[in-house]
Amino acid sequence: MLFGKKPGYDPDYDLKIDDALARNDYPGDKLDAARAAAHTSLCAQMCTAEVWDKYKDVVSSGPAKWTLARAINTGVMYPDSFVGCHAGDKESYDDFADFFHPVIEDYHSGFSMKEGSDLQGTPSERIDPARITVDLSTSAEDKIVSTRIRLARNLSMFPLNPGGSRESREEVAALMAQVYARIPKTSDLAGELFLHTTMSEEKRQSLIDDHFLFRGKDRMQAASGYHEHWPHGRGVYLNDAQTFINWVNEGDHLRIISMQKGGDVKAVFARLSAGAKLIEEQVRDITGQDDVFMMHDKFGAVTCCPSNIGTGMRGSVHILVPKLIKAIGFDQIDKLCRERNCQARGSTGEHSEVIDRIDVSNWRRIGLPEYELVEDMISCANFLAAEEDRLV
Ligand code: ADP
Ligand code: MG
Repeated sequence: MLFGKKPGYDPDYDLKIDDALARNDYPGDKLDAARAAAHTSLCAQMCTAEVWDKYKDVVSSGPAKWTLARAINTGVMYPDSFVGCHAGDKESYDDFADFFHPVIEDYHSGFSMKEGSDLQGTPSERIDPARITVDLSTSAEDKIVSTRIRLARNLSMFPLNPGGSRESREEVAALMAQVYARIPKTSDLAGELFLHTTMSEEKRQSLIDDHFLFRGKDRMQAASGYHEHWPHGRGVYLNDAQTFINWVNEGDHLRIISMQKGGDVKAVFARLSAGAKLIEEQVRDITGQDDVFMMHDKFGAVTCCPSNIGTGMRGSVHILVPKLIKAIGFDQIDKLCRERNCQARGSTGEHSEVIDRIDVSNWRRIGLPEYELVEDMISCANFLAAEEDRLV
């Protein structure tokens, strides 16, 4: 494990562990400061001295051999984190239960780790676009630049990336290359996998500018270990129409993304559903392993960040509400979104500034079927569009 700066250290990508954590000491000062901040991360709230003492010498029972020190590094280094902790393998969530379970229950309020989620219907019913009963208003549709729905998924044969190695990342990418090679050329999902190790810098930047690719260079993600061994094993799959996109090893092994211009939410959801099914079937066929996606008995899909567990789904619209931004500002818009089980992000994704559009997406990820989360997003977009229309 890399515990600090080495020759050739790249601050944008390499992992730097907080000094106290590197010694496996309780970072009390930093956590106290984080607790005193206006916004307190879930990491700072839940990692009390008692919890630290209980787990400081525990190593997860999964392949990552994860520790509490590694799990909380982001929250300790960055008091402005919202969540601030990450899992290195599926087992981390239960091996550090007194830490992770309260984080999960707080983030996904209303969800209980004791009871688990009691989702009605089969996974394919839950992702059935025909079940969406709320429609976008005409006003919202006029203001929507694009729609994107993604699923975060990890493959059960590998550790989660924060706890992975260069080899595990490369194996994930190699397996996915096999999957994509099997997609029939006649399918509308057919396309090409671009790997970061061979992609030109211009190509990478143009994909980022078009919102098709992750940026990297995120200080919080670097502190979690997401960026380690960059650029090895990283890539993006794009179908020819650039409407079905997979991120490989950004943080989670897979981000399965369906997106297009405009506000046809149901078409986006239907493509996502078909793509996820295809990947699952092909990985099963290639590996011979029945459990393809990493699933937890209680909460469903396992992801590196506790915010994404459950459905792993974030449905978003990019919406233009310039008058509202001017009148009340981004933070107030975010607050209104949160009152509607949604959140606002900047124009180029999480932790970004508002340039013109706002990204509005479902906040809840767990205990509800995917189609209901899409309905949350539609209702919130309708609300913001109506607020914009009221302003002169
Ligand atoms: P995620 O939750 O998938 O990690 P991020 O906030 O990190 O999302 O954003 C990832 C990328 O997806 C960014 O480039 C962002 O601008 C883009 N994006 C998100 N929602 C939309 C949308 N509705 N239309 C177009 N691009 C989008
Ligand atoms: Mg992201």
